[in-house]
Amino acid sequence: MATHDHASGALAGDPEGWRFDNSYARLPEMFFSRLSPVPVRSPRMVLFNRALAEFLGLNGEILSGKDGAAVFSGNRLPVGAEPIAQAYAGHQFGYFTMLGDGRAILLGEQITPRGERFDIQFKGSGQTPYSRRGDGRAALGPMLREYIVSEAMHALGVPTTRSLAVTATGESVFRETELTGAILARVASSHIRVGTFEYLTAQGAPEHVRTLADYTLSRHYPELEPSDNPSLALLRAVMERQAALVAKWMLVGFVHGVMNTDNMALSGETIDYGPCAFMDAYDPATVFSSIDQQGRYAYGNQPRIAQWNLARFAETLAPLLDANREKAVDLANEVLESFPDAYRDHWLKGMRAKLGLVTIENEDADLIQDLLTFLHQHGLDYTNTLRDLADEHPERLPLFQDEAFTGWLARWRARLDRQPESSGAIQSVRERMRANNPAVIPRNHRVEEALEAAVLHGDMSVTHRLLDVLVQPYVDPVDPDYRLPPPALAEPYKTFCGT
Ligand code: AMP
Ligand code: MG
Repeated sequence: MATHDHASGALAGDPEGWRFDNSYARLPEMFFSRLSPVPVRSPRMVLFNRALAEFLGLNGEILSGKDGAAVFSGNRLPVGAEPIAQAYAGHQFGYFTMLGDGRAILLGEQITPRGERFDIQFKGSGQTPYSRRGDGRAALGPMLREYIVSEAMHALGVPTTRSLAVTATGESVFRETELTGAILARVASSHIRVGTFEYLTAQGAPEHVRTLADYTLSRHYPELEPSDNPSLALLRAVMERQAALVAKWMLVGFVHGVMNTDNMALSGETIDYGPCAFMDAYDPATVFSSIDQQGRYAYGNQPRIAQWNLARFAETLAPLLDANREKAVDLANEVLESFPDAYRDHWLKGMRAKLGLVTIENEDADLIQDLLTFLHQHGLDYTNTLRDLADEHPERLPLFQDEAFTGWLARWRARLDRQPESSGAIQSVRERMRANNPAVIPRNHRVEEALEAAVLHGDMSVTHRLLDVLVQPYVDPVDPDYRLPPPALAEPYKTFCGT
């Protein structure tokens, strides 16, 4: 088996704290290419996640400065790293393509002081055999964006890759214009994607699909290894984690933007923050990515797309599920068809928590849907409306002057009253609601404002202030402006107050 508990390669007591054990690099050669990050001209640390570094067992003091810039730019390999670019394929907007790490290098797997294993990956680290026509590089804005949004997601309680550092390269990248080059050091439970399985299937390497399935089980689902049919257990477990993940996205109003199969991680973590954003006004059709003109990856489509992606995963696993093709397809379909209910269970549970409901009633789904319909019809902010419901006297808020809403409010209150504890425990309902409805999300206009200051003026203070707020999303921010929707939306929000 590929994974071992010991850390190989690393010197005991490495001052920077690196403790690598690179199980992926021990897999068959077809899975990756060995190569180092391409050195950059003049690395400079832009943003460093010291808390995450220390969680990983790294020395935050040493790595926050020049040494960190050298390491996280790829100019100096840390002790024990075995850099590789991973091979994968993927369905992009429905179409199959061969891909791979075109601008990323997996340095290795850091073993934390508690024995957990995390991929350390550099994104924007130069060309690889999978770069196709790309330059292998990344611009500062998008790398800071991934840092901010992934750390916000983590604080919101959504499984996600995390961000350890952003270094500027001292080189330009050319897109429509000349931009500042940068590298993101990303931390993930692994970078195994649905597309990794698709790649091995496309290579006509069924024995390697089995190797990857075994590897994935041992790395992410070790409790399932003794199953009668481990591949079926894997499919079911991945389905279950994706159902839970996408439900969490929906509950916090997150739109991933590019749910291609190469961006679906078998770990169940959110991965690859590109044109993602948080919804302001509630609208299932919300889409942010300019390249997604059909709205394939719109907010409301995400559960369906997750199921579609899982079907691509099931196809690669089919030969392992049963020697009989028909039987294999039946087994796969049975799992896939259970996705909508699995998703809905997670989502309903989360929505109940958001509304302070601890018991289960059949009409809850209607109560929730009626609220969402109300939000949609009135163009109301999703996050703020739900947070405001936890307010001491919601009827005092201008938002609640609308007659259509007071009826709903009465139903919700009556529902709360039917809960055993509700008589004397309205406070606990509020506490529960506040713990499940964020006050602050990384709203696009605030993220853009931070990126603009950083990229155009080299001013990181806006980013630091934003991150300080985003890492405590369930606490009312000292500056309430962090809760405001963008100005364009503040208009109807305000207009509504007057009616
Ligand atoms: P993404 O849209 O970020 O998920 O990337 C899709 C694919 O394009 C992946 O294989 C990336 O490695 C690759 N890619 C994106 N940008 C670049 C670039 N500038 N150079 C090389 N490959 C890239
Ligand atoms: Mg990707």
